[in-house]
Amino acid sequence: MAPPGLAALRKHQAACSACHVCVDAGIIPEANPTFSGQWGAPFFLVGQAPGPAERESRRPFSGRAGKELDRWMLRAGFASAEEFRRVTYIAALMRCFPGRNRAGTGDLRPPPAAVANCAHWLDAELEMLAPRVLILVGQMAIVRFLGPGTLEERVGRTFGKEPVMVPLPHPSGQSRWLNDSANREHLGRALAQLSRQRAKALG
Ligand code: SF4
Repeated sequence: MAPPGLAALRKHQAACSACHVCVDAGIIPEANPTFSGQWGAPFFLVGQAPGPAERESRRPFSGRAGKELDRWMLRAGFASAEEFRRVTYIAALMRCFPGRNRAGTGDLRPPPAAVANCAHWLDAELEMLAPRVLILVGQMAIVRFLGPGTLEERVGRTFGKEPVMVPLPHPSGQSRWLNDSANREHLGRALAQLSRQRAKALG
């Protein structure tokens, strides 16, 4: 018998996939809601927004940043990128590609109006899935859940209990934060924290 809540999650996912609120509001030219995950996932990753690669694939973290994220998850003890993705629901503050900046050097930061429009999808999933571990990727996602503060104060520590929140920097090559060796040590501690959470959740 299907677990209770599965039908509600599927209905929610279908509705989210069809969302075009930000197009109607003139914020983005096209909608491509991107997220992945299954009922029962003990981990929930919240990122910032999909990039051009995800716009095409409709699979979260399928570009270069995703490859780096997969390497980090191997360091955190997951048997493979596939295992990590099987046990992790992956969503973002803004689920559609926000566009490139005018100089073409990077992606636009998600506009506050789009993040506000998108928040109810995330809130509903957190309510339905009640994950054990919330992985916060990048400063925007960290601030959304923990309030203002620096990456140095957050990465390498855990916050809360149900769920346990594990902040990570963004794995994008655009981020210079990891150029600093002290920050790479923060990341190493964060992945060790995640490894402990994996052992608790998956045995
Ligand atoms: S960003 Fe979120 S709220 Fe806006 S159209 Fe995409 S899925 Fe809908």
